[in-house]
Amino acid sequence: IRRDPHEVEYVQAVQEVVHCLEPVLAKYPQYVQVLERFLEPERIIMFRVPWVDDKGEAHINRGFRVQFNQALGPYRGGIRFHPNVYLGMMKVLGFEQTMKNALASYGLGGAGGGSDFDPKGKTENEVMRFCQSYMQELYSYLGPSKDYPSEDIGVGPREISYLFGQYKRLSGRHEGIFSGPRNLWSGFNMRTEATGYGLVHFAKILLADFSKDIRGLRCIVSGSGKVALHVVEKLIAVGAVPVTVSDSRGYLYDEAGFDDGKLRYIRQIKAQQKSLREYTKSYPRAKYCDEAKPWAERCEVAFPCATQNELNHSDAIALVNGGCRFLVEGAVMPCTSEALDVLRKSNVFVAPSKAASAGGVAVAALEANHSITEIQLQFTIEEFDSRLMDFMREIYVKCAKAGYEYGISKTNTEALVHGANIAAFLQLAEAMQEQGVV
Ligand code: NDP
Repeated sequence: IRRDPHEVEYVQAVQEVVHCLEPVLAKYPQYVQVLERFLEPERIIMFRVPWVDDKGEAHINRGFRVQFNQALGPYRGGIRFHPNVYLGMMKVLGFEQTMKNALASYGLGGAGGGSDFDPKGKTENEVMRFCQSYMQELYSYLGPSKDYPSEDIGVGPREISYLFGQYKRLSGRHEGIFSGPRNLWSGFNMRTEATGYGLVHFAKILLADFSKDIRGLRCIVSGSGKVALHVVEKLIAVGAVPVTVSDSRGYLYDEAGFDDGKLRYIRQIKAQQKSLREYTKSYPRAKYCDEAKPWAERCEVAFPCATQNELNHSDAIALVNGGCRFLVEGAVMPCTSEALDVLRKSNVFVAPSKAASAGGVAVAALEANHSITEIQLQFTIEEFDSRLMDFMREIYVKCAKAGYEYGISKTNTEALVHGANIAAFLQLAEAMQEQGVV
């Protein structure tokens, strides 16, 4: 991070982790050098992505893949298409994914990638051409035992399918190395659900550890994408009361809470790329706030599921004043450092994204296991949910145990943050140390 101080999000992500590792580095001074090595990504691929729109005009975007670390297994991590993508943020994705995959202990390394391409407002054909051009440069770096791409902001089953189509064409191999699509040719039938459902399981486990029941609790959710809407869906299923969703234009609040019918309507609105304001036409008691974030609404639990640094200092104060006691991170690094300070001082319990949003990793491990046939990967919702619950519990226990072993009490509101960082780093550091200076 000394080399690239302008990559402010990456500096922020690293500082938050390093702060938690102080007792580990005091105990194992040999890991200081390992940490220094770990913080420099193993490989950065950066390239031009030319594509032609439907009117025949040429455009250029920038493509990235940061293959961050493969000490524990092949690289695996999301691809993000969003106009604010730049190298620093790609490093954050790769870094956080490496830690998350280490925590899950399924033998996966970490990567992050994407482009500053904005899929919004593009036609189906434009998105397809863009995905094909992006893959043209990247395909030779991907493959089984190399690198598995998966979903992130702006990349869902549609984009993963186009990316896979081009990968297959260029490599000449039909390999199920893409984590995502819910269809018959590759991947796991419930990949897209896994992160959001897993997040709610994690919240349930955390609340139960404090003798609380999630049923009846008011929950604020930000975002209205893949993660956020599956969180809302699962919250409804477990009897909690999700009262907000948001997007880059504003937020929607329904005092009575969403139910399955309302959620279907929100999905329709988003699929048609309309404003969330539409909802108030059918549900006039709900309110829509333009250019605003949902954090001042009353709640017991908050699920930030949109983007990095979506919760700042004043948002955190509003959240605390609204009664929030637990914050479960769906998005990667959703809180600024100042917001985390406020939450710490106000005794709000934080479940870090690298643990709480690891549901997708369980799926990736299944997908990467080639002894499992495609048929076996098609689970029923019940089978899948019970496996996911067990997986989230394992992660929870691992974080709690690592924190405890380093003297952090269960009642410390950052116990899981410290525990997740410590447990993940110890896995990585041991492997990196054994593999020598490479
Ligand atoms: P989606 O693209 O499906 O949804 C993103 C949502 O966040 C949209 O509602 C979008 O609004 C909103 N959003 C995006 N950027 C901003 C911004 N700058 N300000 C306000 N709102 C914004 O993404 P996902 O649901 O897949 O990902 C959400 C978060 O979860 C990301 O941080 C991602 O890294 C993390 N995550 C995702 C996983 C996955 O499997 N998908 C796994 C683990 C973590 P709009 O609709 O207006 O664009």
